[in-house]
Amino acid sequence: MTNPDAPARIAVAHGDGIGPEIMDATLQILEAAGADLDVAEVRLGKAVYEAGVPSGIDPSAWDVLRDRGVLLKAPITTPRGGGYKSLNVTLRKSLGLFANVRPAVAYHPFVATRHPGMDVLVVRENEEDLYAGIEHRQTDEVVQCLKLITRPGSEKIVRYAFEEARAQGRSKVTALVKDNIMKMTDGLFASVFEEVAAEYPDLEHEQMIVDIGAARLADTPEAFDVVVTPNLYGDILSDVTAQLTGSVGLAPSANVGETVSAFEAIHGSAPDIAGKGIANPSGLLLASVMMLQHLGRGAVAERVHNAWLTTLEDGVHTGDVYREDVSRERVNTAGFTDAVMLRLGAEPKHLPPARYEGRPVPRVHGATPRPPATKELLGVDVFVDWREENRDADALAAHLRAEAAPLDLQVITNRGVKVWPDGLPETFATDHWRCRFLHPSGDPVDAAEVVALQGRLVAAGLDVIKTENLYRFDGERGFSQAQGQ
Ligand code: NAD
Repeated sequence: MTNPDAPARIAVAHGDGIGPEIMDATLQILEAAGADLDVAEVRLGKAVYEAGVPSGIDPSAWDVLRDRGVLLKAPITTPRGGGYKSLNVTLRKSLGLFANVRPAVAYHPFVATRHPGMDVLVVRENEEDLYAGIEHRQTDEVVQCLKLITRPGSEKIVRYAFEEARAQGRSKVTALVKDNIMKMTDGLFASVFEEVAAEYPDLEHEQMIVDIGAARLADTPEAFDVVVTPNLYGDILSDVTAQLTGSVGLAPSANVGETVSAFEAIHGSAPDIAGKGIANPSGLLLASVMMLQHLGRGAVAERVHNAWLTTLEDGVHTGDVYREDVSRERVNTAGFTDAVMLRLGAEPKHLPPARYEGRPVPRVHGATPRPPATKELLGVDVFVDWREENRDADALAAHLRAEAAPLDLQVITNRGVKVWPDGLPETFATDHWRCRFLHPSGDPVDAAEVVALQGRLVAAGLDVIKTENLYRFDGERGFSQAQGQ
């Protein structure tokens, strides 16, 4: 926790496009509100990319970020063409910013939305899932992407969602998963959710399958409070919820880690209006409000947020929000900044005022250490590239069984569906076969057996493209059954 009487030491990146304009506006408002910031500039974005740094992050930035622990970041322009890495992904992964937090709030009637009552906080896991970037082409016809869900990652994000809910005085946390299909990966997230929920008996919790949950979220966002999801679902749904508020351009986000956190607007660098002085600084300003809360400076966060809400409901709007029926005055960036500063100390009359003073800062917990499970090797899934003999699974099984002993060929699947034994002729077969070998007794096998099996299959002319060991952890099967098995 930082000393609330000392200046808040933050890092700032002015970004590209409209970035410098909206950052200057934001810092001006924060200063006028008495935020007492000690700002260190870090260089991120286009100029750094163009200077030949593939991540777009100046090497000197890392120490500043580590030292300050908090980054207020304006949007950057991602240069087109190959060779560049996503700056946001590098920041998230390198600094362990595991939680993406996006409030989606309706400002009815000042911003048009079909969901006037919505106020949803989406807490998205930020580092794992299908975003680990582990992809392979394995055969002529098949590419794969590994979906990684970890217990520590799930535990950290779920607990953070409950901590946010409690700190913000919210009442319910909803997890969205697809554990009816992905029983192990989403199943782990779901079971960790139940475990962690038990530590927060003051909060309601529920789980929904992500498809129906997403449909309900799009239809009745008012029924949701805090939503927590693995990475991919959260990526999609946090955009959906932002869109539903009618004001993507006003939406902030936080990327929270155990030691460093970054705060930014959702929108990009808007090169089409850069330099014109007409950009709306609201997304970044509201991100700075999240930052001030994170720093434990609730009073000033509240002051800034309420001045902004008052400006909005007074109808002083930048061009992107301006509407004849509700707006009173169309202003540019400087005009909007002045209007917010003029209202510091005021409170909105129609929109609910922000109340952050005295609010606890959500704790960022690491994962709970656990003793390792007892792990036993039971067999192996061997994946082969095979398109001979009219892709007849019985023929493939005959080749495999000739080499199997002392293991036993238990099942062959194609795209996860059982094709041997007793496959159906209608099942479509690609050139990518998963062949499961276990010991006939069901007992553990030696790792050397698995390696030797692979050697025999290769010697017999089979194209082994990968293997996946089959384990039991503390007596529990650590692999899914084939579909149709
Ligand atoms: P964008 O969000 O920059 O712009 C989309 C539209 O919204 C444009 O018409 C723009 O003028 C308008 N707009 C955006 N922010 C506005 C604001 N504050 N005030 C008024 N109007 C605003 O999206 P884009 O055009 O797809 O992307 C532009 C660049 O931003 C790209 O290089 C992209 O990679 C980058 N980007 C960066 C971030 C980030 O740094 N976090 C996020 C998204 C996109």
